Amino acid sequence: MPELPEVETIKTAIEKSIGKTNIIKVSINNKNLREKIPDDLATKVQGAGIIRYRRRAKYIIISLDNGLSLIWHLGMSGRVKISESMPPLVKHDHIVIETGNGVIVYNDARRFGLFTYCSTENLEQHRFFCKMGIEPFDENLTPAYLAEKLKNKKVPIKIALLDQNIITGIGNIYASEALYLAGILPDRTAASLSAGECGKLIESVISVLKQAIAAGGSTLKDYQKPDGSLGYFQNMHCVYNKTGQKCPHCNCNVNRTGGIRKTVLGGRSTFFCPVRQK
Ligand SMILES: [Zn+2]
Repeated sequence: MPELPEVETIKTAIEKSIGKTNIIKVSINNKNLREKIPDDLATKVQGAGIIRYRRRAKYIIISLDNGLSLIWHLGMSGRVKISESMPPLVKHDHIVIETGNGVIVYNDARRFGLFTYCSTENLEQHRFFCKMGIEPFDENLTPAYLAEKLKNKKVPIKIALLDQNIITGIGNIYASEALYLAGILPDRTAASLSAGECGKLIESVISVLKQAIAAGGSTLKDYQKPDGSLGYFQNMHCVYNKTGQKCPHCNCNVNRTGGIRKTVLGGRSTFFCPVRQK
């Protein structure tokens, strides 16, 4: 599943190759994604000019000069392909957007993605966004904000980090990675974090996400497959999916500690180092 860094990278890739141009034609080959694509979407956006690309949590938002914005979520398996001219279409190519600068094709085998539109003016009030927490890179994400949000939370901090109403866009991989970097055990009760630990956790969240975005951006070409699709990148994870291995930042003796451990919190795999994290 694409996480925030992947979505940010894909948004940037579309922005760089398509940019501000007109949408010439939108073809919907299968409108049955997670939610049905509105019947009038194509007629609403054809002919409009793209004026802005944004990401909010894991949604890509493309704003147009006619007061509307496209809202796009890649679901579990969605893939974006960009080409200069119309490519031969393959199975699961559900959406084709022809623009003045090239063609964007959306392929989604599992159809958990989402593609809709709303008025740009009402974007913040849209049901997808109105209850959303703060963005990880928002300057209003302070230790005081996080401490306030966590103070009555009895759930493990790992689960609170995945709560999109507190901080948006942190997925399963980066929750484990950020807690590892901050030295905080994932099963600690969220309310037990000190102000200092809240500050450290925010720094760690920002650091792991920025690192992943930088890795994606710098090697984006490698992810552009021969068919023009943008694959999701494997990041340099410290603990995620590394059960039994030595973690990179401490001198734990794997023979004694068993190395990085895996546990399940809220039904999701969670990885941590029992030596480094307290
Ligand atoms: Zn360790």
